[in-house]
Amino acid sequence: MSSIYCMFCGGSNCKYENYQNWINDPKHPNAIEGLFSNWIGGNILATQRPSTNIIKKYDLINEFKKHNLLSIINLEEFGEHPNCGDGIDPSSGFSYKPEDFMNEGIFYYNFGWEDLKTPTYQQMLNIVQVLTFSLENDKKTAVHCHAGLGRTGLVIACYFIYNLGYNAEKAIHTVRNCRPLSIQTKKQQTFIYQFEEYIKPLKIIYPGFEYKTNSSSFDLIDFSLNDLLERQRIYYHGPELRKIKYIPIIILKIIEKLKASLLNTNIDEFYNSIFGFNYKTIEKNEEYIKIQREIKHIYIMVYQKKQF
Ligand SMILES: [Zn+2]
Repeated sequence: MSSIYCMFCGGSNCKYENYQNWINDPKHPNAIEGLFSNWIGGNILATQRPSTNIIKKYDLINEFKKHNLLSIINLEEFGEHPNCGDGIDPSSGFSYKPEDFMNEGIFYYNFGWEDLKTPTYQQMLNIVQVLTFSLENDKKTAVHCHAGLGRTGLVIACYFIYNLGYNAEKAIHTVRNCRPLSIQTKKQQTFIYQFEEYIKPLKIIYPGFEYKTNSSSFDLIDFSLNDLLERQRIYYHGPELRKIKYIPIIILKIIEKLKASLLNTNIDEFYNSIFGFNYKTIEKNEEYIKIQREIKHIYIMVYQKKQF
């Protein structure tokens, strides 16, 4: 299969593995010398696959460190495009040795799936969660497949949907705006719209409401606490997930706001931030104490019960 695709990109002269082919477009400046690559959103590098030869020739490890590029996400499968560019390093099954990066403190993740195809939604969610994690604290991340257009563009668009709340159209537009030719097939494009639909219900924090299909309005549905916690476990990850393992996130958010408001003792801001109206229009003390008591009660109930 792989060798068939290589016919389209030119074998050892693979057009995607020769960055010189791509440097004459001032609107989309090439990001890293030696790699056909573009920055997307300022902190994600969409790039062709590196090779052992390119790593050496362009001092890529130091170049990555200079840019604070401290993670690599590889979307290729073993042994892919064996006749393209510098080919495959038999010791790793990829065009480079991941250890070359890892030994220098650059994290490496491999989530391969077949070229020009799409993964499952759950797989994509895992990938964008890892990408979100790897970008924390102002770090940057390189995402590559073979050319850095199809699978790479797909992941970055889905990241924008997951992490920044973009809709599919805006996500695709943003990626292509920075890296033309990204997201290569109709199927990949459709997947992005489907991924948006897939995660929509997962991120709803008010239980009992459900999006109507093809509409921005809501339906009331039967929804248990268990269902909500299960959705949270799928959607959230890392330290955030640990905090909300047994607590609906809406309760945690309200408690955080309460805490912040108590510290600031600015009741004006508190009411505005939670309810979107000014407390002066209601009997402030009574309401405030009542709400506080309610939330504390729910929190204790949920937290102490833990299992459902
Ligand atoms: Zn190729």
